[in-house]
Amino acid sequence: MQRTNITLLLLTSFAIATSSLTSTTNPQADSTCQANMSPFPKYRSVKKLMLRPPRHWVGDAFHVYPVFANMAFTEDISPLLMYDYAAPKNFPASAGQPRGVGQHPHRGFETVTIAFQGEVEHHDSTGKKGIIKPGDVQWMTAGRGIIHQEYHSKEFTRQGGTFEMCQLWVNLPKRNKMVRPGYQAIESDKIPVVNLPLNAEDGTESLGQARIIAGNLDSTKGAAKTFSPVQMWDVSLPNAGSEVEFPFAADHNCMVFVRRGSVEVLSGEGEDLESSTLGPQDLALMRKDGSDLLKLRVVEPDSKVIIMGGEPLNEPIANRGPFVMNTQQQLNEAMMDYRNGKMGR
Ligand code: MN
Repeated sequence: MQRTNITLLLLTSFAIATSSLTSTTNPQADSTCQANMSPFPKYRSVKKLMLRPPRHWVGDAFHVYPVFANMAFTEDISPLLMYDYAAPKNFPASAGQPRGVGQHPHRGFETVTIAFQGEVEHHDSTGKKGIIKPGDVQWMTAGRGIIHQEYHSKEFTRQGGTFEMCQLWVNLPKRNKMVRPGYQAIESDKIPVVNLPLNAEDGTESLGQARIIAGNLDSTKGAAKTFSPVQMWDVSLPNAGSEVEFPFAADHNCMVFVRRGSVEVLSGEGEDLESSTLGPQDLALMRKDGSDLLKLRVVEPDSKVIIMGGEPLNEPIANRGPFVMNTQQQLNEAMMDYRNGKMGR
């Protein structure tokens, strides 16, 4: 059944390609195109599988998997830097102070907080504050410096319940590291949703949805404004056994992370694709092998994955604690500015 669907899709795209060729008047071009037209597309291969790392606490609120582990802050995953994922966890109702992370600075990059369940509240040195509700995304540009606090919302603290969120750190290009700090408070209903599969026709079974937080999938643009090309898609794949393809720029770094359930990453070319199976909190770093297509097969029903990456910055990364700059000297300056109260004003 699966195979039939795929063959049909291939035939359809083949038909479109062939029909556009008929308009050409140059027979040379025709034969060249046909020579390059393999009946099988090539799917991006896995460079490295990162299995679920051990968890640690950030403050007393966020019990996170540091998903990028020793790839964090490396060029392999640029422009992304770090990724903390807090899997669903129950917190009892409390009349006390909200759990959280006390006042701390950031400089030189952006923090992206996605709430899945429960609420994250924040306030900062620019005087801004807000609540990130389930489905919402807060895209914070630390730029030249911000000092903030992040915690469970008062309401969530009072009521208790399941809490699930993540925070990604996205690097800023050298030229933008010292921009004015700011926020994009992106509410759930402002995030474009793409139905899968992309080339669905009337009657095609729905294979899920992708929320385009940043970047673009097909012709749909993400909600966030970014300083360099960044991809961040929150993908729901309900049907075990289904196979879904995603175009992804060949020269962008690309990662697949499983929030829940399980998927296989299928790679290679031809009838026998290679398969790498990912379970909860596993990550696949994809190879830059010239392919601009990613293919997943859903193993567990109701699987949820995040597909992310972007154009590598190819600039030096110097990081220390909450600062990410290009040189050690700039890190020292950041420390001094923070100590001397020059940050976050
Ligand atoms: Mn922070």
